[in-house]
This record gives sequence, C-alpha cells and structure tokens, in this order.
Amino acid sequence: MPVTGRMLGCRSTEINWAPDQYSFMNNAKSPARAQMLDGAAVAEQIKQEVARDVARFVSEHEVRPCLAAVLVGDDAASAVYVRNKIRACEEVGIRSEHHALSATTSAIELLDLIGSLNGRGDVDGILVQLPLPSTIDESAIIETIDPEKDVDGFHPVNIGRLSMGRPTLAPCTPSGIIELLIRSNIPIAGENVCVVGRSQIVGRPMAQLLLQRDATVTICHSRTRDLAAVTRQADLLVVAIGRAGLIGREHIKPGATVVDVGMNKITDPETVRQMFGDQAERRLEIVSKRGYTLVGDVNPCEADEVAGRRTPVPGGVGLLTVAMLMRNTLNAARQRRRPG
Ligand code: NAP
Repeated sequence: MPVTGRMLGCRSTEINWAPDQYSFMNNAKSPARAQMLDGAAVAEQIKQEVARDVARFVSEHEVRPCLAAVLVGDDAASAVYVRNKIRACEEVGIRSEHHALSATTSAIELLDLIGSLNGRGDVDGILVQLPLPSTIDESAIIETIDPEKDVDGFHPVNIGRLSMGRPTLAPCTPSGIIELLIRSNIPIAGENVCVVGRSQIVGRPMAQLLLQRDATVTICHSRTRDLAAVTRQADLLVVAIGRAGLIGREHIKPGATVVDVGMNKITDPETVRQMFGDQAERRLEIVSKRGYTLVGDVNPCEADEVAGRRTPVPGGVGLLTVAMLMRNTLNAARQRRRPG
C-alpha cells in the first residue's frame, strides 16, 4: 500500500512513494523522524578550536587578531547580528571594533572609513554588515575592502579564487555547512548534491565548496522547472531561498540529508501548525510572546517523514556562520603576517 502524505500527518499534499522508498521508515502510523544535525555543537567546537589557535597566535606575534565590524543605519536585525559577532570575538579572544554609522551616512563617508581600515596594520578583518541602506551601492563597498581583510569572502578576488579551487577566505555560511557535514560524517565526494538558491552569499559559494570536495552538484533557482523532480535526486539537499517551508516531502529523496539555510519570520498560526504539526504548541507560544517565530525554507514536519538527517531552524546553520567568521579573521591575521 502506498504511503500518502495525509496518512503521515502535517499537510494534505498526497504523494505516492514506491515501497522501496519508504522501507527505512518504522511504519506508516508512526513516521520516522529525521536525525537532527547539531549545528550549535559544531559551532561551539569550532569556536573552541579558534580560541586555542588565537592564544597560540598571540604568543607568537604578541598581538591579538582584530575584526572591525561596520554597521550602517538602525536595522534591528543587523544590530543583533553585529552584536553576536562582537560577542563571539570576545569569546575566542579576538579584538573587535564596532563602527556604527547613521542611516544618513553617504557612500563617500563609508568608502573613507573602509579606506582607513584597509590601511591600518592593526586591523585584520573588515566586516560590513549587509544589507546597506538602499542609497549605497553594496558591490562598490565590497569591492573596496582589501581582499586580504575580506573575512566575509564576498570580494570578487576571493570569489574568483574560490571558483578556481584555490585557498581563500570563503563565505562563512557555506564553509560552516561544509564543517557541519564533515564533522557529522556525512559523505560529500561522489554524492548527488542539489543546492537550491544561487545567491552570492550562500548558493553559489556553497556549490563551489561542494564541487571542491568532489560532489556532483546541481544548482536550482526560481526559474528551475519542476523543482521537486530535480531536488528528489539529491542525496544531500542544501536549501537557501528565503521562502518559509517551501521545501516539503515531495522535494526530498527518502533518507537524504537536508540542510536548511533559510531564516524566515512567520506570524500566522495556521502556517505554524502546517510546519510543526504536533510540535506546534511551543512555536505558537513563541509567536504569541514575540509576534513571530523563526523558521527555515524546509517544512520540518514533512522533512522528518522522509529525510534521513536535517538541520533544525534555529540551531542549525546560523551559529556556524559566526564561528566561521572567527576562523576567517584568525586566518586573515595569520596570512597577513606570513613572510614573503
Ligand atoms: P537571496 O539572495 O534572496 O537568494 C534567494 C535564492 O533563492 C535566489 O537564487 C532565488 O532564485 C532562489 N529562489 C527564490 N524562490 C525560489 C523558489 N520558489 N524556487 C527555487 N529557488 C528560489 O537569499 P540568500 O541571501 O541566499 O538567503 C536565503 C535564505 O537563507 C534567507 O532566508 C536568509 O535569511 C538565509 N540566510 C541564512 C544565513 C545563516 O547564517 N543561517 C546566512 C545567509 C542567509 P533567483 O536567483 O532565480 O532569483
């Protein structure tokens, strides 16, 4: 008898899995739950390693690595992200500077600040928190950062090195995902991997890093025809699209590993119920307290029925990004002091 989506709970979409596709499940009445990948634990492990290596760097060079964080405007979410990055610096022993500029800052003023940070010998990493106010051209700003101090890995020189498979400062979110996969013993080489999303920040560099590790990589985007037919081929599915719960059971190959990069705020209780099924109560409480809850691009309830492993949101990919920023800052500091 085919297992249908309705029998397994969550949403009413019906799909017919062939028997061999659901044989890993215990039984249809109590669906298997995907195993969670613990991004928080891996992020903590990386930060401890960075802290140890920072201490070694300090004893060798008698100076602390330094990250300069630049925030323009008063976007509340950006302020939180910068605060978290500064706090992580404190945890691992990296010195930090916080340059908070008003929303009316001109591109020239920002370029001046970056020019002075580029020229300072005591600054190893420069981070400009995105998005910038719409009056400022982000590409022009990113391209002004010294590539050797571009700890976000967004400068075209670093992107070029990445796509040539050369060592570089790689974007933090995708390199954190690679760390998570490796440390969770998830195979990459030779696997069919699908990356959904082709942004400069996540999708494209993710595909490059996976390719470097010998995966067979397919990239999907908003113009992909029959997305589910493509994603269902993937042993490893990485989703970074910014669409709450768009990836459902029909997109996932049974037993696949699903990495959910999405971070979306949802406020509607019905959507919460569709995404969390019998686990919805706690999320509904969060919505009633905060006005929203943070969810990924993957419907967790449906993914749990089909996937072998997946990352939760929050607690999956987000913390890894900050940990890898710490590592990039240390690597930039080391690289700048390398002789020759
Ligand atoms: P983005 O720049 O908006 O790019 C979204 C990508 O998704 C685009 O390539 C777009 O295709 C594709 N897309 C949109 N709708 C789609 C659909 N229905 N089917 C297939 N593809 C679709 O987003 P981003 O910056 O990569 O971020 C993606 C998500 O990850 C967001 O939720 C963001 O908040 C989150 N994020 C999390 C972290 C973290 O640390 N956890 C870091 C960065 C981003 P087109 O190119 O055709 O438009």
